[in-house]
Formats: sequence, structure tokens, C-alpha cells
Amino acid sequence: MLKSFEGMNKASLATGQRALIAWYRENQRSLPWREAPNPYAVWLCEIIMQQTRIEQGLKYWNKFINTWADVHALAKAPLDDVLRAWQGLGYYSRARNLHRAAQTIAFERDGQFPVTAVEWREMPGVGAYTAAAIASICHNESIAAVDGNVLRVVSRYLDIQEPIDRPIGRNQVDAFASEWIRAEDAGTHNQAVMELGALVCKPKSPHCSDCPLEPTCLSAQPAAAGTPVPPIKQGKTKVKTLKMIFNVVTNGTHVWMRERPATGIWGGLWEFPSQEFQLNTAQPEYPPPEASLIPDSVLGRRLWGEPFEHILSHRRFRCQFVVWHIKGEPSVTQGKWMPWKEAESKARPRAIDRCWERLEKSCLTLNNR
Ligand code: SF4
Repeated sequence: MLKSFEGMNKASLATGQRALIAWYRENQRSLPWREAPNPYAVWLCEIIMQQTRIEQGLKYWNKFINTWADVHALAKAPLDDVLRAWQGLGYYSRARNLHRAAQTIAFERDGQFPVTAVEWREMPGVGAYTAAAIASICHNESIAAVDGNVLRVVSRYLDIQEPIDRPIGRNQVDAFASEWIRAEDAGTHNQAVMELGALVCKPKSPHCSDCPLEPTCLSAQPAAAGTPVPPIKQGKTKVKTLKMIFNVVTNGTHVWMRERPATGIWGGLWEFPSQEFQLNTAQPEYPPPEASLIPDSVLGRRLWGEPFEHILSHRRFRCQFVVWHIKGEPSVTQGKWMPWKEAESKARPRAIDRCWERLEKSCLTLNNR
């Protein structure tokens, strides 16, 4: 039973609820995991689509389903293959958690997927939103899934004037979303709100005249009136800019690669050993990549390519490759000295991958000098 919320009575809320479901049935996009929702397909979709546009995510979803048809196949795949398939999506911890969760389901739960949102929360990489989305879509559990689209739709619908990135505003959205969900249609309702946010109640210039909630929405705008005030945000964490040097140590045939720690940016991916510097801190133009690199063995070192920017959610890196042409083999204490061919097969951060082909080609010619 719906209760009233400030500025909106029960009857209005129920009207909006019915109109929303009817609109979704007519207007939902045709997506493969919606045709016959099963936990594997929906879980993959929810992990891949986080922070990702649907057009881009769809390509990755298809790649994963075609490569690993079920959770057993994904669980048995080497992590490096999964990271390679993920390449370009960013936030690599999602891929590592996906793989760990697949192993938990396949090996520890005998292939049985969790059913309730509470059970899903125990899987690596599954947060409150994802758990609610899967449990409601696959098993119609009556639990609200609140993502960025839902935050925007609800905060506008109720004209919430508190910041939604602070508990005071967020709690209002959560309370309303939990109340609003239709128990008999929970999965459809959750998808309908998200779809409305993606297609109609867009961040800029929402299409209020096409919106099923328009008659009852407290922020509805006349045609071409612009963007309503909510959602209000208090502010984002400042993005920090750093300088990053990738040290390409090579003798022409082999190169030094290092696996990054499992946690942190690019966790578990292979890189040319990198060094981070504060932007304004003085540092040597050619930082030595490792103390054990004997100066006599260095035949030459040079900046390779133009510096470029690589942006992550909370960091902006000014990147530069430095090629160290050496003779013999360095005694590396971290990572591995390997043929370029082997290095090519490793999962790498996009910042390195974007230049890989040209860089490898240019380094392979060093062998002949
Ligand atoms: S009427 Fe406009 S502001 Fe309100 S939910 Fe619909 S699109 Fe968003």
C-alpha cells in the first residue's frame, strides 16, 4: 500500500506507477538479456553496464556470452583472458570480481546462483544496486534498485531539494523508491524507472511532454523550458592530475613487464613499470626504472611519442613513454623479462594499449642497431 510523500498524495503516486509500467511495456529497448532473463545473463549485464554506455556495453556483453556461455566456462577461464576481454571498459576490479564470483558460484555453490538480494550481496563485486536489480529482474523480489538514472527520476518526480550525494537527499530517494515499487511487478518496475531515466528523463533537457509521469511529476517542465533543478549535488571529489612515466626497458627482442597489484588502478594488468609524480614536483627528466639496472648496460634512452592525457574517474594522468635501450638482460626483481610476443598476449591498461602497436614496432627495430 502506497503512503503519501510530501507534496504528493497516494492517488497521484499510484497513477504514476501504473502509467510508468504501461509506458515501459510499449517503449522498452529490445536487449538480449531482456528476452529470457536468466541470472547469468542479467548478472553479466549489470556488472558490464556499470559506468558504461549501453551501446558500448552491449558489445562486451555479447563478447562474454559468446566466449563463456555459462558460469562454469567463465569460472574455468584464466583471469588473464577475462581481463583481456574486458580491455577498454576500465574499472578492472569489476572484471576480477566477476571472475571471482563466477568461481564462487561454480565451485563453491555447485553452479547454483544466489536468489535473494541478500545472497547476491555476498558475491564479490555485487553492491546494493546490482543485487537488487538481479533479484528483482530474475525472481521478482520486491526491492528497489537505485542507480544514477533512478536517483535523477525520483529526485525530479518529488522535487527533492536536498543533495542526493549526501545522506539527507539519498535517504529520501531510497525511502520513496522502496515505497513506490510494485510488489507484483518488481523487476518490471525497476527496469521501467531506469529506462525512463535513460530515454526520457535525461540529465539535460528531459522530454517531459513524452513522459508517463508528467501529469503527477513535481518538476515537470513545459516544452523547451530546459532542465529542472533536481537532482542537486553537493559536489564531486576533485580530480587530481599526476604525471605518469611508463619505462619501456628493452633490448629489442625482450621487454620488461610488471603485473600491477590486484588492488588500485589497473589492478592485475601488465604494464611497462610506471612511476607517478606530482605535477609540480621537480623530478629527473629520465627517472631510472630500477636501481638494479646497471648504467653500463644502457645504450640509449629517449622519450617516445608525444605526452598524452589519460583520464580515470578520480585521476588525470599526463603520460609519457620513456624507452630504455639496453644490452643483455636486466636482473629484474619485480615482474618479468619476456619476449615482445609474450608481452603482447598480456592484458594491459588502455593507456598503454592505445600506443602498443607503434611502440612495439619501433622497439623491435632496436635489435638491428
Ligand atoms: S515529467 Fe519531466 S522531470 Fe518529471 S520525471 Fe518526467 S521527464 Fe523527468
